[in-house]
Amino acid sequence: QALKERIKLMGDVVFQMDLETALRYSLKHEIATVKMITGEKLQVLRDYLNILRKYFPFGRGGQLFLTELAMKASTEQVQGSDLAEVIRRAEQEDSQVFSSPQQWLACRGSSPSYRGYPCGLWKLFHYLTVNSAERNINNNRANPLEILDVMHGYVKNFFGCHDCSQHFQEMAAKREMRNVSSLDSSVLWLWMAHNEVNKRLSGDQTEDPEYPKYQFPLKERCPLCRNNNNTWNLVEVLRYLKHAYSNINVRYIGSD
Ligand code: FAD
Repeated sequence: QALKERIKLMGDVVFQMDLETALRYSLKHEIATVKMITGEKLQVLRDYLNILRKYFPFGRGGQLFLTELAMKASTEQVQGSDLAEVIRRAEQEDSQVFSSPQQWLACRGSSPSYRGYPCGLWKLFHYLTVNSAERNINNNRANPLEILDVMHGYVKNFFGCHDCSQHFQEMAAKREMRNVSSLDSSVLWLWMAHNEVNKRLSGDQTEDPEYPKYQFPLKERCPLCRNNNNTWNLVEVLRYLKHAYSNINVRYIGSD
């Protein structure tokens, strides 16, 4: 209970444990469960592993693990069971791949039917958009859609929630994801898209009563993010997102 209260107080802090748990769920339950991965799915898997290798906050063991998965995915087709075997080895205690148990921390729902993986997946992709923007700050040849394209492909090909996938693809078309022209805009595009989903799901039966949906970030957390006329101050929103999802602000459980 004390930990739960402490995590709530920490607000928009991103935990390594939630990022790792989301990644493990995605690899084990959405990717390695596919019998034979070929064609578009295989390309999306390669792109996903590529951005993870570039930006996921892993140590050396984790990097080697992602490289091994990428090698498996470099063939013409890959069996999910081959990937499952690599993941099984990575999860052994002495492998030094994961730093935490596979549990939710800030994404933990008030009951197991709430939150968890979808929350973790959002956080993972927000983290990736922010860290791609930060790392490419002086690279004017960087692809502004580097992360969003992969997210779109992932959600289309692997995300187990089919309604969510459908809605996300429709939103990407309606909100012109493909016209995003800078990495900073990609951070803001995903923030805007997530807030649109939050609005749609506010009061929905899927909403955890202990964690009602809201327009992120809360006014108390970022007073400057809203103008006086209640429109968004995008400069401040971007600053807030870059702070909240920055690599250097990811917390390990127990760290202050
Ligand atoms: P989440 O909405 O999962 O958010 C997780 C965390 O992200 C929050 O706790 C907060 O810290 C942060 N956050 C919230 N908003 C923002 C923002 N705008 N920018 C940056 N950070 C933010 N469920 C459905 O029922 N129908 C759908 O159509 C649907 N579509 C989805 C599409 C995608 C791509 C994903 C990943 C999930 C979708 N879901 C959908 C699930 C839903 O959006 C929530 O993830 C789920 O209800 C759990 O909500 P949550 O309270 O944990 O917060």
